[in-house]
Amino acid sequence: AGAVVGLDIGGSKTHGALWLDGSLVAEAKAGSANVQNVSPAEAARSLEELFRDLLPAGDAPTIDLVVAGSGGVDTAADAERLRDLIAPHAPSAAVDVIHDTRLILAAGGARTGIAVIAGTGSVAWGVGEDGREARSGGWGYLLGDEGSGYWVAREAVRRALHRHDLGQDPDALDTAVLTLNGIDTPTELIGLFHSGAGRTYWAAQSRAVFDAARDGSGDAADIIDRAAADLTRLVLDVASVIGVPGPVVLGGGLAMHQPDLQARLRTRLGSEGMTDVVFLEEDPVMGVRFLLGPDEAA
Ligand code: BGC
Repeated sequence: AGAVVGLDIGGSKTHGALWLDGSLVAEAKAGSANVQNVSPAEAARSLEELFRDLLPAGDAPTIDLVVAGSGGVDTAADAERLRDLIAPHAPSAAVDVIHDTRLILAAGGARTGIAVIAGTGSVAWGVGEDGREARSGGWGYLLGDEGSGYWVAREAVRRALHRHDLGQDPDALDTAVLTLNGIDTPTELIGLFHSGAGRTYWAAQSRAVFDAARDGSGDAADIIDRAAADLTRLVLDVASVIGVPGPVVLGGGLAMHQPDLQARLRTRLGSEGMTDVVFLEEDPVMGVRFLLGPDEAA
């Protein structure tokens, strides 16, 4: 395929890349187009913005193939819904919708192994030499997503509320959460949480937990350690089905940008005998290039 668009559609953002004859020529970012998390109208808007930036009108090439890795794609119908939103932007292209975990492994340069995402949501998935696959978690924020950005922030809110229930004063972590939300008392968090502020909003607040841990909050450190434990459990679930057929490759905002979580994951995975652990440094969308195979390198 001459002109290929890769999309990485996460819970908070969409990242696009354009390759012409195997060379990366453009990248663009927009809001989430994840059909599990945002309305069809919002997903359509994000995709429109992304394609407008990626393929400027006038001198855009005809796209032959779109490979879209997305969270929230669990059934053929989910994939179809997303394909329908993408197709109008690349009318002559074949549109291949895959789960976002596939991009993680590929971005790590691996054909077999276990991929983990700790971003807005979380999941582990792996594939072995014989093609056998297994997954654990990735059921979305209402059902799980342990160790994700949303989960980390929600834990901080829960702890602030618990301390308030016990008549204790807000600690450093609670204060950071209150300040971020522009409110004075923990009880206001309850209404805010149920007001539909949404998953992306809270996931972004996980940063406060990592900052507080760096500033010495034991509670924040404990949340991060629990996140590492939960993510490790997802990996062990996958390994219990397919073994460990290659590296453990981790992507998503938390796994890629939070050294404290990385260190704890390394320790926990290491103590389970998993030492080939890769934290992605480049964006998962770059995995599309790897999926295309060496023929495209010309
Ligand atoms: C979604 C999964 C996705 C994961 C990581 C979860 O919320 O349900 O489909 O793989 O987040 O992006």
